[in-house]
Amino acid sequence: MIEYEDLSRVNHSYKQEFTELFGKFLDKGWFVLGEEVKLFEEEFAAYCGSKYCIGVASGLDALYLSLLALDLPEGAEVLVPSNTYIATILSIVNAGLKPVLVEPDLGTYNITASGVEENISSSTKAIMLVHLYGKPCKMDELLNIAKKHDLYIIEDCAQAHGAKYQDKAVGTWGNFGAYSFYPTKNLGALGDAGAIVTNDSRMAEKLKALRNYGSQIKYKNDFIGINSRLDELQAAFLRIKLRELDKLNQHKNILADIYKKELKREFVILPENQENTFEVFHIFNIRTENRDELKQYLLDNGIKTEIHYPTPPHHQAGYKNLLHGSYPISEEIHRTTLSLPISLIHTEDQIEQIARTINKFFEKL
Ligand SMILES: *Cc1c(COP(=O)(O)O)cnc(C)c1O
Repeated sequence: MIEYEDLSRVNHSYKQEFTELFGKFLDKGWFVLGEEVKLFEEEFAAYCGSKYCIGVASGLDALYLSLLALDLPEGAEVLVPSNTYIATILSIVNAGLKPVLVEPDLGTYNITASGVEENISSSTKAIMLVHLYGKPCKMDELLNIAKKHDLYIIEDCAQAHGAKYQDKAVGTWGNFGAYSFYPTKNLGALGDAGAIVTNDSRMAEKLKALRNYGSQIKYKNDFIGINSRLDELQAAFLRIKLRELDKLNQHKNILADIYKKELKREFVILPENQENTFEVFHIFNIRTENRDELKQYLLDNGIKTEIHYPTPPHHQAGYKNLLHGSYPISEEIHRTTLSLPISLIHTEDQIEQIARTINKFFEKL
């Protein structure tokens, strides 16, 4: 069986280093927001080419705290892709703001400047864009629109650690870059973790307070914050894995190239190549009208796949009073997309085998 992902194997190569670290960690007796968090923040900021990094408890919190720091008027509109993972939209709702869904481009799955501009109203205050699957949005164009209409930009980088648009890391174009280190992400902790990168010193200070009950100095609360502190243990693990991130992205890019070379374009829609970007593959998706049959055929042939995502946000039961309207591009993506195995544990041979199996399915149709 070729698994879609196998986190125990992904993390196994770090076992000895992790175990030694854990011993030291127990001896030290300091568990949240300490030296390891500080060092990880410095290292991740440097990795992204950003001035500041603020470690938090999850990707959702990184998005939510970015909005909280901006202090937007209640009910202000935030533009967000209609095809994103629910966390992006939830952060807006939790912040007391109004998500306005913007349809993505069907080729890149990302929102574009023209899509954004069509949805701007007098209440629009921010764009929360997503570098979905690891493909960077066209940031120069989006930045121009944001400037023209005086909008903030928050970049959801939860799927794009290490990706660059025109040689500049995602997350450093807008006001904030929000990262998740959920275990399955390209940089994954051994539990929940997240971070915000920013070049704004005032915002960085405010975010450091907001994640810790609005307090920078013990028992002094300058803001109404939340508890979204990063654990020392997670930060220490992330520091080790950060050193391997480029290697992981490179491995996944090699596997992606094999899919692109082997899969027949008359059968499936492949991810579009984008100029002037270094894309990473958190997810390698293809699209086909025969998605469900193909998924079953692959499973029958010992290959596990996933769907990111089966149901669009505006069709989620919990959001029926919040998200209205029809979003045909998003619906089309959700109906036809299939995510193929692409992970540290997969070999080039396995990817060739998967590609051959997919081609065979269509040849027999
Ligand atoms: C994973 C993810 C998040 C949420 O991150 P958590 O750490 O699970 O809170 C947000 N946005 C996108 C696009 C994601 O893939």
